Amino acid sequence: MAADTVFAKIVSGEIPVERLAETERVIAFPDISPQAPVHILVIPKTTEYADVTELAAGDPGLLAEIVAVARRLAEQHADGDFRLVFNNGANAGQTVFHVHAHLLAGGLTEGSL
Ligand code: 5GP
Repeated sequence: MAADTVFAKIVSGEIPVERLAETERVIAFPDISPQAPVHILVIPKTTEYADVTELAAGDPGLLAEIVAVARRLAEQHADGDFRLVFNNGANAGQTVFHVHAHLLAGGLTEGSL
């Protein structure tokens, strides 16, 4: 279960963001600290899942929807190719415990993370 995170405030609108994509269950917005020419966060609106392990077990269809939204955004904002990163756990660099995909695209160098 995700606690009361900054992403819950973004979903509720308490913290305004540019909504680059939105479906009934998913929103996407630019990362505040971009690590690639295109760096977009794609998140479920529900606060039910802290990380991708929980999401994959609890609602694989919602995980598939996140991937589909990411693919559309990569087509709109880059050449269609993209990298999706899920940090799973604090020791893997996760800082916000509301599951999110980092969509990275545009001029990625081969082999970089
Ligand atoms: P994590 O390290 O948990 O995988 O990724 C969290 C991401 O959320 C980081 O890349 C960070 O820059 C981004 N982030 C944290 N707070 C905010 C915020 O208030 N607005 C936006 N747009 N991104 C945020």
